[in-house]
Amino acid sequence: MKKNVPITVARGDGIGPEIMASALSIMKASGASLRIEEIEVGERVYLGGFTSGIRPEAWDTLRSTKVLLKSPITTPQGGGMKSLNVTMRKALGLYANVRPCQSYSPVVRTKHPILDLVIIRENEEDLYAGIEYRQTDEVYQTLKLVTRPGCERIHRYAFEYARLNGRKKVACFSKDNIMKFTDGIFHEVFDEIAREYPEISTEHHIVDIGAARLADTPEQFDVIVMPNLYGDILSDVAAQIAGSVGLAGSANIGDSCALFEAIHGSAPTIAGQGIANPTGLLIASTMMLIHIGQPKIAELIHNAVLKTLEDGIHSVDVFRDGQSKKLVGTEEFSSSVISRLGAIPKVLKPVSYSEREPSVNPHPRLPARQKSVKKLLGVDVYLHFDERNPQAVALQLQRLTSSPLAVSMISNRGVKVWPDGFPEVTCADHWRCRFLARSEGDSVSPIDIVRLLGDVVELGLDYIKTENLYTFDGKLGFSLSQGQ
Ligand code: NAD
Repeated sequence: MKKNVPITVARGDGIGPEIMASALSIMKASGASLRIEEIEVGERVYLGGFTSGIRPEAWDTLRSTKVLLKSPITTPQGGGMKSLNVTMRKALGLYANVRPCQSYSPVVRTKHPILDLVIIRENEEDLYAGIEYRQTDEVYQTLKLVTRPGCERIHRYAFEYARLNGRKKVACFSKDNIMKFTDGIFHEVFDEIAREYPEISTEHHIVDIGAARLADTPEQFDVIVMPNLYGDILSDVAAQIAGSVGLAGSANIGDSCALFEAIHGSAPTIAGQGIANPTGLLIASTMMLIHIGQPKIAELIHNAVLKTLEDGIHSVDVFRDGQSKKLVGTEEFSSSVISRLGAIPKVLKPVSYSEREPSVNPHPRLPARQKSVKKLLGVDVYLHFDERNPQAVALQLQRLTSSPLAVSMISNRGVKVWPDGFPEVTCADHWRCRFLARSEGDSVSPIDIVRLLGDVVELGLDYIKTENLYTFDGKLGFSLSQGQ
């Protein structure tokens, strides 16, 4: 007999407890070897004063079981609350979000009968760093942070996932035609890692046209790897065009912990009515079972779910007159799955999961990296300046004659407005003023910058932040403005 594997379960909010009861009863009936520890997360915990939606002691349970099966939670409205999902991803280092999307045609209506793809979303970086500022009366800022190690990890994960699951192609979506540094490094590392997997074909799409193709001809995709925000949006699009958000599950994988959940939310408007579709959480449960080394149980459950759907036993979100055979609630759907454990679907493609390494986490090893030679060329000084006149800003800054740095360019919202700016450009109260060494190409010292800032303050100017301008091994480490 197999040893019971400890897992943590959180029943969540809204329809969460109903679909979790379904998942647990089906896993029990299928012979899954589990030892369940429960934690409470979500609305009640938030309202009890825990701003992340989780009690401090629950982390210990998570750290000891290392696996969480979670129902959706309701995110309370109002300031001061943090997203539980984002908190968990970061605190537990869950860097890869894996979302398989599949259509169940002709059983569930979809415009895309041939859709079988997996989105692998980077889960910790990008705009989700949560570093935001209000800088002036008019201007708000969020930082998009992308790291080379973060890119190496997610791309290697995507290729290992493809190799392990017999997938033939990995596509990368990014917007590196505009964000040349952040999305640029994401694309560059994708190309580097791809060379280590010659048996897998690759392609890159700028995210806008990639998204359009995904919505139009999803059958051309297999595995798609994306930065955090694009992945967040497009994985919902892919699930929806497959048939229903109620049908998809997801895994969040880290080096030591993993979290499995349905992709939908807590659906408060149908909570307590016993009509929710548990399929998304069931698919997430099968992903968890594979992760903890019980792939044959996962296979049993997944095929029983497919057979139930194939037999036309449908919950309200997928039920269609003339196509479905029986409208069922959550409990009857669950008993229908249980009575089909061991059955193999005939119309839908059955799944087969082999005994393999218990974890789908490839534990990517990051190579030691040589430090670059960094040269400080100058500084961008950001000013809060109310007068909408680039010339007036420049005149003030040209009074700073004693510094080894001189103002060379001023931009507003990323567009160069001085020298030779276009009068049509609309300016906000937020000015980026680029200072470079007076002798072109010379380096400057940090103390030159500190002194410059002192002079800026003495002029009565309101400087709100700075960014140092470096070259790395001779390559520019900063963007030029539009029009520069
Ligand atoms: P939702 O996914 O809960 O609901 C969207 C629509 O899909 C609704 O019409 C709902 O009735 C339906 N639906 C969703 N799941 C279903 C299921 N299993 N069976 C049948 N119908 C289903 O999205 P929402 O309404 O935007 O969000 C509700 C709450 O859930 C919000 O508080 C949101 O913040 C939260 N949320 C949580 C998670 C999570 O915990 N992972 C994810 C997304 C949203």
